[in-house]
Amino acid sequence: MRIRVFFFLLLFSYCLILFRSPSSYAWDNHATLTYFSLLQKYSLKAPLLPAESLERFLIKEKNSLVNWLEQEEDWLQKNLKNYPPVPEIIKFKAKNKAHASDGEQLIKDFLYAIRINPHMPLPLYSYVTLDRPRNPGRTTIPLSKVSLLTFDIPNLPFEELKEGEVVSALEVVSSASDEPDYGMDIGLFSNNDQNDFNKLYAFGDNPFGSSDNPYASQAPFHLGYFHEKNHKLQTLPLVQRNFSEYRIHLFSGLAKLAAELGHPYWAFRFAGWALHYLQDLNQPYHASLFPGASAKDIDEFVPLFKKTTNQHVIVENYQYNIFVNLISEGNFQHPLILALQNVLQNGGGENDSPYRKYPIESWARLLVSSESSASAKELYNILREAFPSKYIDDPNYTFSFGPSEFDTYTYLQQNNESIKQRLDEFFISRFKQLGDLNREFLEQLSIKY
Ligand SMILES: [Zn+2]
Repeated sequence: MRIRVFFFLLLFSYCLILFRSPSSYAWDNHATLTYFSLLQKYSLKAPLLPAESLERFLIKEKNSLVNWLEQEEDWLQKNLKNYPPVPEIIKFKAKNKAHASDGEQLIKDFLYAIRINPHMPLPLYSYVTLDRPRNPGRTTIPLSKVSLLTFDIPNLPFEELKEGEVVSALEVVSSASDEPDYGMDIGLFSNNDQNDFNKLYAFGDNPFGSSDNPYASQAPFHLGYFHEKNHKLQTLPLVQRNFSEYRIHLFSGLAKLAAELGHPYWAFRFAGWALHYLQDLNQPYHASLFPGASAKDIDEFVPLFKKTTNQHVIVENYQYNIFVNLISEGNFQHPLILALQNVLQNGGGENDSPYRKYPIESWARLLVSSESSASAKELYNILREAFPSKYIDDPNYTFSFGPSEFDTYTYLQQNNESIKQRLDEFFISRFKQLGDLNREFLEQLSIKY
């Protein structure tokens, strides 16, 4: 019982922290991770494919989508624990007459049927990774035309794509792998802020509490505590009710369908969406609730959660600053970047990749989150040695991700080179797995173009 009382307090404190650090809630940022992971497989020059608006895709394929979404719903209901079925009223229907003449209605109905935030703009665009030159033939668009949220992205603005414009698959899948953090999963629970869709989606109450904080509503889709061993934690709603596997199966299935129907742009865009959720689970703090904590620590729930949130933000601050520092120096041969590409000496081959042995739907639980949660304690121990204790073990301190806070990467470079080596080695090991995951995912989808 005690833990439940604490849990409500915790939600309050956690939401406050998240309010202050919106950009921190991910492997920040996914587009760069995907881009470097796939550089062996693809390049900016090939393969190339025509950009296609969502409206055009839906007009052509609405009948196939109706059938496919029905089959998908059957699979989800049979295979996912705690899966809330799509209510009849928002199912994608072939007989909606408005679809013949109203593209906007068609898009809205599709977004309701796949239960993402229907206000997502979803334009044709490209995320400009820091190492690629801007395309002078493209106009730029601000973050607000792509995202429902405002946060820090290193190389804004985005580049706009025109219908039919030739674009590389690498750009499409990298850009899309960042997109689920732009508001796609915000406000979907019935007790989130009043909006025009959440009551229809049947996700129930937010497992992170009744907060109207947007990031707390996104969390159950982007985290997955599948391997918690502590029995007190196993019963918590945020451990029990998780929707990341739903997103991965739905979006990877849509990617396969779009590929089969001859829409490579949407095949790579949906693939990028699915990859986002797998990548999130590769981050140890997305897969382990309290790394390094003992059963006794868990009794002190609120302070523990505050400390853990600081650690989580520091990990993402460090990873963010790896790329900002290395890319601004043009240091593309650094082991941290090479790890993503699996071209390190002694990097190991991919012939024995565990991802080859299992279908994509089992990866989230069986491979990605089990590996990352198993590594979480080691990461916690390194963080304790690397940074002043107020950042790691002080529940009264709140670490903010924003520019006011310090660059953890530069701090370690200047103050403690040997522990920086250990932290970098930890990241190298995570990034190797992440690169492998990204490449094997696209290998299994085998998108023809
Ligand atoms: Zn995310």
